[in-house]
Amino acid sequence: MNILRVSPVIGFICIFLGNYFFNDIIGKCLLIIGIIILIASYIYLTRKFLLDRKKYPELFNIIQDLMKSYSLDRVKVLIWPFGFNAFAISFYGDTLIVTKELLEEMNYNEMKAIIAHEFSHLYHRDSVLVLALVLIFLAPFLFVITFFIPKNQIISLPSAIAFFISLFILIYGFKIINWIKIDQELGSDREAVLHVNSYKDLQNALFKMYNYIDRKKRRPTRVGAIFTGFDYISEYFFGTTHPRLKERIEHIEFAGKIRASMESQ
Ligand SMILES: [Zn+2]
Repeated sequence: MNILRVSPVIGFICIFLGNYFFNDIIGKCLLIIGIIILIASYIYLTRKFLLDRKKYPELFNIIQDLMKSYSLDRVKVLIWPFGFNAFAISFYGDTLIVTKELLEEMNYNEMKAIIAHEFSHLYHRDSVLVLALVLIFLAPFLFVITFFIPKNQIISLPSAIAFFISLFILIYGFKIINWIKIDQELGSDREAVLHVNSYKDLQNALFKMYNYIDRKKRRPTRVGAIFTGFDYISEYFFGTTHPRLKERIEHIEFAGKIRASMESQ
């Protein structure tokens, strides 16, 4: 396992353990070590994987182009060596993360369509809203398990009521967040269509992405098949972050029609 990949996880584990031993010196040390690991790995990873203009001139051009058309003047771009995806984060400044494999798989126009979609997320600061809602819906649950229950008896009526109410807020909260995320995805698809040559570029990119992910999947074992049940259960309670492929493809075509009618006026 790559140490770079797990260093933020180690940081979070240290903070988590440190929080539970908070009253003694080991807990405090762990907490500080965890925070240091997180900050160090953030600084190291963001420098190491920063987009190299000479290595990826086409991507650099795409970014320059889209920065102009979205009127964004500073976007940090990271080329991530793991996974197959692209992310847009705007908590502090605007950061775009594109994985290496995704870059290798897509042609110029498809890549531009994907980046145009991510730029829409950046422009609207979609990640800020999502993070705020995660914190709001998670806060009651964290409060109950860290402070409320230890202060009351663990098996008591107030503990049980507080636990189930906060759990309900958490589950329902994530359902609401995913409902918003689906709308953000459709909105970003629609906006991307306005920034690329043809809406078909985005459709092709999505086909490629979904096919690539399917190709990687092997036939599940019997136990594996049973475990896929957890995905269905989670989807049932929490919903999904992305619309179904069919919905996206149809929506993109619809956006293409709107663009064509705007251009013909
Ligand atoms: Zn998206």
